[in-house]
Amino acid sequence: MLHHLLRFGLPSICAVCHSWPCAQPLCTACQQRFVPVQPRCAGCALPLPGAALAGSALRCGACLTQPPPLDACFAAVDYAYPWSGLLARFKFQSEPGLAALLGSLMLRSPGVAQAVGGADWLLPMSLSPQRLAQRGYNQALLLAQQLARQGAPQRCRADLLLRVQDTPPQTQQSRAARIANVRHAFAVQPLLASQLAGRSVLLVDDVMTSGASLYSAAAVLRQAGVARVGAVVLARTNSFAPAPETPG
Ligand SMILES: [Zn+2]
Ligand SMILES: [Zn+2]
Repeated sequence: MLHHLLRFGLPSICAVCHSWPCAQPLCTACQQRFVPVQPRCAGCALPLPGAALAGSALRCGACLTQPPPLDACFAAVDYAYPWSGLLARFKFQSEPGLAALLGSLMLRSPGVAQAVGGADWLLPMSLSPQRLAQRGYNQALLLAQQLARQGAPQRCRADLLLRVQDTPPQTQQSRAARIANVRHAFAVQPLLASQLAGRSVLLVDDVMTSGASLYSAAAVLRQAGVARVGAVVLARTNSFAPAPETPG
């Protein structure tokens, strides 16, 4: 417990390299090395190598050919070392205290603060009741709460978008199988649907792999009359290849 507090409760040790003393949860060297400023596709958040960093909404070839159901999509970092390990600790080893650091990385990513400010609701990607009971918390909700902190915390709503179907871990599946899996996974809370009509929402999740879950949730929200659906994740896998650990 003391060890945990020392590492994460006080901003004195870098969460990645453990250098001490450190004024922030992530030291400057790790910030520069592991949070590179990277132009990403505005539709799917995949890196756009060679693209100029600007506020412009550049899209990759795939998103230009077949636009995804997201109006905007942001990722702070690649799903790779050290973030894959930190996320595993955050999700599977009961270290929800990492939410503050991970949330701040998301907020510092280009375009995210504006997207958060412009959204009526921040919607964490929901877990099935079984998964929630297993883990004890929804990591996406913790991240969404961090994002909502600066503005109006009540904009973070875990009650509007429901996961009505548990899906098997997506790790080893093809993209087509993932999309088929999550097609009916989400639903809008019917009693609250009127709060979504005409609104602008931002989905929040920890990892984006194929995008199948986010796209499925976005389609459900659009059917409910949502005017604008964006998504922000901490980490994006660099391709549709299976991720080394189980997102979800
Ligand atoms: Zn460090
Ligand atoms: Zn794209």
